Amino acid sequence: MAEAGSFADRVKQQADIVRVVGEYVRLKKSGQNFTGLCPFHAEKSPSFAVHPTKQIYHCFGCGVGGDVFKFVMEMEKCAFPEAIRIVAEKCGIAVPRQKEHSPEERKENQQRTLLVEMHRETQTFFVKQLEGTLEGKAARAYLEDRGLDKDAIARFGIGYAPSGGDALLRHLKSKYNEKLLAVSGLVSRDESAGRLFDRFRRRITFPISNESGKVVAFGARALGDDMPKYLNSPETPIYSKSNVLYHLDRAKEGIRRQDFAILVEGYMDAIAVARAGISNVVASCGTSLAEPQIKLLQRFTKRVIVNYGPDTAGQTATERSLSLLLEQDFEVRVLALPPVGDKKADPDLFIRERGKDEYLKLLKEAPPYVDYLISRARQMDLTTGEGKQRALNFLLPYIQKIPNGILRSEWATRIAQQLRIDEPLLRSALSKAAKERRSEIKTSPELIGRAAKPVERRLIRMLAEAEGFRQELAKHLQNAHLYHGLETEKIFAALVIASLSGQPVHATEVGATLEDRDRRLLFEILFEEANEPTWEEAMSCIEALQHRQAERELADVQRSIEANPPGIELRGLLEKKQELMRRLAAAR
Ligand SMILES: [Zn+2]
Repeated sequence: MAEAGSFADRVKQQADIVRVVGEYVRLKKSGQNFTGLCPFHAEKSPSFAVHPTKQIYHCFGCGVGGDVFKFVMEMEKCAFPEAIRIVAEKCGIAVPRQKEHSPEERKENQQRTLLVEMHRETQTFFVKQLEGTLEGKAARAYLEDRGLDKDAIARFGIGYAPSGGDALLRHLKSKYNEKLLAVSGLVSRDESAGRLFDRFRRRITFPISNESGKVVAFGARALGDDMPKYLNSPETPIYSKSNVLYHLDRAKEGIRRQDFAILVEGYMDAIAVARAGISNVVASCGTSLAEPQIKLLQRFTKRVIVNYGPDTAGQTATERSLSLLLEQDFEVRVLALPPVGDKKADPDLFIRERGKDEYLKLLKEAPPYVDYLISRARQMDLTTGEGKQRALNFLLPYIQKIPNGILRSEWATRIAQQLRIDEPLLRSALSKAAKERRSEIKTSPELIGRAAKPVERRLIRMLAEAEGFRQELAKHLQNAHLYHGLETEKIFAALVIASLSGQPVHATEVGATLEDRDRRLLFEILFEEANEPTWEEAMSCIEALQHRQAERELADVQRSIEANPPGIELRGLLEKKQELMRRLAAAR
């Protein structure tokens, strides 16, 4: 792993694990550690801990643990070199020129860099088109009509793609080859003639940035009646629709601070909400949320208010997103905006017509998702038994996702009242659903079923951190074979070897040589609150181990004596017994 003096080692020395992990997990100070909800398993109360001085993390629930690089590797699903680079960048450490592993990798990296550069240039191009051309003037008038003034245009980088069909292409052609242009998603290929032309024509353009704020795609709205009304970039080497949330790059601070996010459908909605002064808004930029987007979001919060459009597509998207969010243990509320006049209102229209105060008020009052679902169910025909059954079938999958039994029961009563369904009937359906849910729940990872004795825990802790006498202590333990036969034998053995080397002992490196269950136990012990170790305490722990060792031996001798050995052997055993009893008596 991080060899002494290597770049990785330098990064590890300088990186603050609490800060790096804090970008993914909300951490609270708790004693000498920081704790939060584990990002690697679903949980409601925090069992994930970060140790600021040892620079390690550990989850007491699922058992994951390691150093800052391991964390980033697991979080970003990347390899070790990439993790070093990410941590270095997060900590503002200059990264030496990267060594690529294969020519293909180098080519791919180059291609991605060029594509990002191309998108940046395209963004500038679109903005200039909006500002300085006749066509752009018409586009500006349209935007003004939608309530988007100069400030908003500048703030959200709104631009214009001209109608010609090859204006952007001509602009980019001088710098980039055709092959790269073809995969950029900015131009399309005419199948019959085989030539390239601009993908976006006569459209208002909205830059779509990734989490770090780099433009990786565009969304574009038709200026006239051209179809489709909205056209986005296709999937490219730098853009995947399900991995990007529009506006997250600017919303993440607000989301973290306020501990909730507002989820809307399109960029126009996100812009409208953000302009109303509500910065913690993101758009899924598609009809419904995808799982990678939820993973992205849960790094910042576990609470979401879904505010999709009121049409059928919006309702379906809301319900699909609800399912996914609930599966990931999000706390979800739903804001369904009332119509404006006779028009169904999305956030954009609503804020334009009714103002941001009205929107804010409704946002604050947004009901929990179950209320939203009940009101949806009530729109169904409930006059017949079949209709009621349909409504119930619609609700059950969501209700069974409520993990809390009391809450589930409360909702059952409410649903029964509101839908006029016989309550016992409903409850039996619910408990059946709950049973199915239980069978679906993944069995929790094996918990450590053994408890190392306090003396063992204390000694392990000393070997790991008592710089002053670690080596001396290791010698004592090894010479007297004191840890042989203990549950913690392997942990001791690894720590003793590391301590005898005279080098500083790193928990992650020792952990790497252990089996998983032993590594978990080691990390658990390292996270315990403890006083500064002293040599006196070490000696009294050693005495306690010696005592236990003598007791174990005595029991062995006793068993051998009871097995009726031949006379000569028996004499030896009795002598041994005497000696052990003397030793134990002296220790008392
Ligand atoms: Zn965990």
